[in-house]
Amino acid sequence: MGQKLPWRIVAEWITEGEACIRSVEKVYAAGATKFQEYLIGELAGIGKSLVLDGKVQSSLFDEHWYHEALVHPIMIAHECPKDVLIIGGGEGATAREVLKHKCVEQVVMVDIDAELIELAKKYLPEWHQGAFDNEKLKLVLDDGRKFLSTTDMEFDIVILDLVDPMEGGPAALLYTLEFYRLVSRVLKPGGAMVTQASSPILTPRVYATIRNTIASVFNITRPYITYVRSYNGVWGFVAASNSIDPSNLSPDAVDKLIKERIRGELRFYDGVTHQWMFTLPKPIRSILDSY
Ligand code: SAM
Repeated sequence: MGQKLPWRIVAEWITEGEACIRSVEKVYAAGATKFQEYLIGELAGIGKSLVLDGKVQSSLFDEHWYHEALVHPIMIAHECPKDVLIIGGGEGATAREVLKHKCVEQVVMVDIDAELIELAKKYLPEWHQGAFDNEKLKLVLDDGRKFLSTTDMEFDIVILDLVDPMEGGPAALLYTLEFYRLVSRVLKPGGAMVTQASSPILTPRVYATIRNTIASVFNITRPYITYVRSYNGVWGFVAASNSIDPSNLSPDAVDKLIKERIRGELRFYDGVTHQWMFTLPKPIRSILDSY
């Protein structure tokens, strides 16, 4: 390994007064794009990671827990998603998972940060695994909200893989009522959306607010969770639609659909895992009820 690296740390504020600190064992790239500060490096405990504005976005240790949880439940619940929109998802791992679905004909991925995409292509091959070169993928470098306000395209599934809604952050306006109305406008009949939604334990008000905002636009709203060590614990998602309810699928039904419709290996998601994600424990149900 050669040269001894200077001591560096990533300190991520979890809540006021609480932070997660990780030592950075190797830096591949660090700096700032027009939209965000970035670090791509080896972090203690979780390995190669992408950090944006001080927050771990994903790590090789468990990016599959996050990306498979985000993509597959809603894709499997749809009868056959052909046109998929991803907003955000700079690492290319969300596109990688979407492209495993045999039904998919076109994936439009809209990310605001062209420099970050170039960094991901160069330094995060384990994440995108060639997804950026797939002929079904159309990459649009634009703000997701601007794209939705102007496009006349329609989609079966919309996946929101955005940075958290930090005040002043690039995605702050992509967790609003107006934004979810724009999402519902581009969905085909029978379509559905899913978003990452922060942590029900670390930021319960944010999680519940995202769920409640989405519930005011769609008839069916299903919060679900997974565990992501890189994000310091339990992580939340919200799936929504006017007709699809992913929480209804039995483990056997999910396993059958995976066999029929997904090519390639899944490392996290299967029928039992699907049921586990939608079975919220009492404290999380209480959090959702209390806001
Ligand atoms: N897994 C992550 C998490 O849960 O925090 C999200 C990861 S992904 C790297 C977040 C992406 O959102 C980045 O690539 C960033 O450039 C993109 N992004 C932020 N604001 C955006 C916006 N307004 N429109 C489109 N993409 C945006």
